[in-house]
Amino acid sequence: MLTSEMVKRFALECGADIVGIGSMDRFEGAPKECDPRYIFPDAKAIIGLGFRIHRGLLRGIEEGTYFAGYPAMGYASINDVFAPMVLRFVGNFIEDHGHEALLYQNTSVRLGCGVGKPVAEGLPKPDVFLHFRIAAFICGMGEIGYSKLLLTPHFGPRQRFAFLITDAPLEPDPIFDGGLCDRCMRCANECPAGAISKTRTVKIMVAGREIEWGEFDETKCAAVYQIGTPNCSPFLDDGTAKFVLDLIEGRTKMSAGEAFSKARQMVAYSRNAWESYHHPSAICGGMGCIRACMIHLESQGKLKNKFHQPFRRRKPWWHQAS
Ligand code: SF4
Repeated sequence: MLTSEMVKRFALECGADIVGIGSMDRFEGAPKECDPRYIFPDAKAIIGLGFRIHRGLLRGIEEGTYFAGYPAMGYASINDVFAPMVLRFVGNFIEDHGHEALLYQNTSVRLGCGVGKPVAEGLPKPDVFLHFRIAAFICGMGEIGYSKLLLTPHFGPRQRFAFLITDAPLEPDPIFDGGLCDRCMRCANECPAGAISKTRTVKIMVAGREIEWGEFDETKCAAVYQIGTPNCSPFLDDGTAKFVLDLIEGRTKMSAGEAFSKARQMVAYSRNAWESYHHPSAICGGMGCIRACMIHLESQGKLKNKFHQPFRRRKPWWHQAS
């Protein structure tokens, strides 16, 4: 008989850094278009696989000298190369034990969620969108921090996820008890876009637990995480600098999709990232939501992945620039 222990051990052997298992009833209360039970009605379990983003991939951005490592190996290679491979191996393992495995890869959502017509009365519009951070929470892998990122006890905000949904009757992990995010607000204070509200929050209930995060401005983040701001990006000219400042200071209004496309097109470095890796250039390097949060959690000794040296070792170049 296939057990949760067997699945986890195998997934770790295949290269996942973190594995968690949740029961499908924990999606109770989810909006239809985000409820994976509509993808696989007879599913019993969801398996979360976590893949670390190497801290070293943020080093070049931290020093202001090499920005390509993070989008290439911290984004694209995980989402489009390594995670899909591990999904396949674990899927083989589950199906070799006579259970079905639906493999849900990160970038599959790009084809379009909720854009099709419902195929029958009562069903959601395809494709159903699996909210990765909430799914990781449901798999007991961590907590959603004020930044809205999923924080794990292993790497804090520094990982990406992929999921399998199966009808194998696997024992779920307990929901994570929390204790990582202490509302230090570094994510909101150091986000160069000012995209995380310091005052307004969003609250939802998942698996009987209340989750709260800072209200998030998707439009500001959509542009800034790709191309940065004049203060933290060496790739902007006067025109793109003005575009970003008008956006984050509210002089320009547009949807997240418009901001995303404009930023993607306006900066050659960003265009090249898409052409090369089909992923954003991520020049911001998660200045608030990833780096500031990680530095804070590491300084508190809260993370299992420990380093001999602190991440921030000198006055950041963008502080010297301002
Ligand atoms: S930076 Fe602080 S407030 Fe923000 S998610 Fe991390 S621990 Fe929580």
